[in-house]
Amino acid sequence: MLQVRAGARTRLTEPIHGFRTWTLAGSRDAAEVRLLPIADAGHPWPVREPLRAECAKRRHHRVPALDCTCGIHATTEVDLLRRTRDPAVLGTLAMWGRIAEHEHGFRAEYGYPQRLSLICQLCFWQNGVERSIACEVVIRHRSGRMVPLCTPHLELCERYGYPVPLILDAGIVERSLLDAYAVDVLRFAMARRVEEAR
Ligand SMILES: [Zn+2]
Ligand SMILES: [Zn+2]
Repeated sequence: MLQVRAGARTRLTEPIHGFRTWTLAGSRDAAEVRLLPIADAGHPWPVREPLRAECAKRRHHRVPALDCTCGIHATTEVDLLRRTRDPAVLGTLAMWGRIAEHEHGFRAEYGYPQRLSLICQLCFWQNGVERSIACEVVIRHRSGRMVPLCTPHLELCERYGYPVPLILDAGIVERSLLDAYAVDVLRFAMARRVEEAR
């Protein structure tokens, strides 16, 4: 693992890896499924080409700048992502180009997902990745937004009147997502190993 001081900035040609979460959107038949950033309702992540970060504050500097928040964010501690709002997908991200390193992660100039997994956000919030139950279904809202859930949490949503306009098979949505980005599935046990390897 690259040793860089917290707050340092460096330039890399070999990618480094971190964890991040995304929201998910797709077509009614799940033939087209895309990752979207958590923080804003921005553009879908490009498929089969790297994302290049631009300064979100539209400042004129090279991204990521140390005194800014710009860059593609990823963390080295998967549990920190439990605080993210409405996570639908957990994955590992390869990052390269200019990198700003922080105590718990990185901001990068370039990034592309490496491994992806649908997550039940209720399991993830309550129990973390290691004790999450596998997603069986994906609720698709009319806006296109997709919410993966395990069976117990789907039943909970139905009992408490959470809108469930369309229910898709989680396996089909995940396959479509992996095919779109041409990546492999992230197994939760694998997430643990990546963490231990640090
Ligand atoms: Zn900036
Ligand atoms: Zn669940």
